[in-house]
Amino acid sequence: MLLNELRDYIASLLQTGLFKDYCPNGLQVEGGAEVRRIATGVSASQQVIDAATAWGADAILVHHGYFWRNEDAAITGIKKRRIAQLLRHDVSLLAYHLPLDAHAELGNNAQLGKLLGLVEQGRFGEQDIACIGELEHQQPLAQFAAWVGGRLQRTPQVIGDNAQTVHKVAWCSGGAQGYFEAAIAQGADVYVSGEISEPNFHLAHESGVAFIAAGHHATERLGIQALGEHLSMRFHLEHRFFDQDNPI
Ligand SMILES: [Zn+2]
Repeated sequence: MLLNELRDYIASLLQTGLFKDYCPNGLQVEGGAEVRRIATGVSASQQVIDAATAWGADAILVHHGYFWRNEDAAITGIKKRRIAQLLRHDVSLLAYHLPLDAHAELGNNAQLGKLLGLVEQGRFGEQDIACIGELEHQQPLAQFAAWVGGRLQRTPQVIGDNAQTVHKVAWCSGGAQGYFEAAIAQGADVYVSGEISEPNFHLAHESGVAFIAAGHHATERLGIQALGEHLSMRFHLEHRFFDQDNPI
């Protein structure tokens, strides 16, 4: 298919125009006009670019692209090497940040809820990207944390009383520790996010609401893969996900 058609289809699917974001969503680096093979990855790192270009990708779709607000706009050093390789191989880079967290079916949070067997009941947080819902059966925090670790294949960091019962769960993938207070206000027993910060420890202790830091990368592998699979089915594109071993 044509790159422009792919770009426009995803823009309408993810409603990218509705989001205020810290980076441009959509086509960030333009490659060849035709797309047959799409690679997906969490972040547009050199490792993902190397693997995707070796595979012969025409386009790379990621959750974390380039050109973040407040970063140095100059294309030098690491950024130069990455972009030079994309241009040399005529490979496009498309990035979808908050619109991919938020999407009701393909989004990181919808997919995370599905993976963890959570029944979504509502949304909260900035631009409604975070979710609130329930576990099918209430259970001790230790049991739920072990389940989260198994599903994401990464041992989470858990703040809370292992014996406390959890039923109502709030979750938001990635670096969403800033929504912890909002999750507490939603009446959650436990909040699952990718990363945790020092103040969250005290909030967890003093509120009695547990915090599970399940990994920024680990919780954000889902949306971009779901998007890649969706595009592959719909447009008969070849798709491959390129993971990276990232403990953060
Ligand atoms: Zn992220």
